[in-house]
Amino acid sequence: MNTSTLVRPVATHSADVASPAALERRYGAANYHPLPVTLERGAGVWLFDTAGRRHLDMMSAYSAVSFGHGHPALVRVLVEQAGRLAVTSRAFHTDRLGPFLRAVCETTGMAKALPMNTGAEAVETAIKAARKWGYKVKRIPEGRAQIIVAAGNFAGRTTTIVGFSSEAQYRDGFGPFAPGFVSVPFGDADALEAAITPDTAAFLVEPVQGEAGIIVPPAGYLAQAREICTRRGILLVCDEVQTGLGRTGALLACDHEGIRPDGLVLGKALGGGLLPVSAFVASEEVMAQFTPGDHGSTFGGNPLAAAVGEAALELLVRERLSERARARGDELLAKLRAIDDPAIAEVRGKGLLIGVEIDPAAASARQVCEALLARGVLSKDTHGTVVRFAPPLIVESEHIDLAVEALADALRSLRK
Ligand code: PLP
Repeated sequence: MNTSTLVRPVATHSADVASPAALERRYGAANYHPLPVTLERGAGVWLFDTAGRRHLDMMSAYSAVSFGHGHPALVRVLVEQAGRLAVTSRAFHTDRLGPFLRAVCETTGMAKALPMNTGAEAVETAIKAARKWGYKVKRIPEGRAQIIVAAGNFAGRTTTIVGFSSEAQYRDGFGPFAPGFVSVPFGDADALEAAITPDTAAFLVEPVQGEAGIIVPPAGYLAQAREICTRRGILLVCDEVQTGLGRTGALLACDHEGIRPDGLVLGKALGGGLLPVSAFVASEEVMAQFTPGDHGSTFGGNPLAAAVGEAALELLVRERLSERARARGDELLAKLRAIDDPAIAEVRGKGLLIGVEIDPAAASARQVCEALLARGVLSKDTHGTVVRFAPPLIVESEHIDLAVEALADALRSLRK
């Protein structure tokens, strides 16, 4: 065999002339449409681009960077742990996993936790747990378990998860999809109740829908869902990958209505903005469905992730980030609502998870994000019409003023 066709020389000359963004376009799949800025450094609420410009981060990597970029306490834990022990697999115990799982359970008030990496994996874990609970505890006939989901949900990009998405683009070309999901309107407790059958195992719901465009359900919805699920003998599983860990101004968005789900999905901020760390967290009865060999992940619960995750939870509580998110979130919401511009159709949100709905007749959300970028504020459009404001939870009033002024100015510039 002629190996010269297999081993190609590294073309350093082409990398020298092309920008990193051009290389992304040349060698990467086009599954994202990034704003035209190339970032190279972050510190707290700030991001710095390759041209040396400073930008205020108002979306924190889709809510993953709650502690700000490069939080020194978390970076210290990351570096120390990386030098000591990073990845072992779950074939062995490590000195980091147990303390991390205890921190997850004690912080959330739940019984047991199963560590994974990405949010989608943890949602898949929740689906498996709910189905198996349905068969083994509720005695649903084999192969018939159903999970009720809410229209507008976003839970990741696996084929099972996009299969129950109501977003046509997320599904287009990726079927066939797994059966066993029933969709009801979000925020409608009566519709949930009406959809329950003897084969229903669980209701899987985001307390505030993030990727749908920051949709806050009517007050009392989650408490009603809790009551219905308990009375009808199905599990309530809350996907708090985005809303959890302080983002909405409470440790869990469930706390706003004083409820505990049977299963809870955490991700994003659990990795301290440094690593992908997620977990499925549940009651004893639900987690008891997993036995050795049922489920796993090579990287899930690795010592590096466990150390950073434990430190992130400690920091969240010590720095009272939920309270800060509530105070700064109320402030941001009020200041955004005070912008008097016809392009703003609605401002909605909870804590520091806020969406500004732009009237499509005035501008697209993408245009607004580009105008914000020109003013040193980074955000991202969702669903064409929504600009999200979800800064790190350490954001201060002065940053909020800067972002609000930039938005008002951006909208003025788009009117001309
Ligand atoms: N669940 C919710 C509510 C999310 O917002 C997301 C991501 O945005 C996910 C799950 C998927 O997380 P990941 O992108 O880490 O797979």
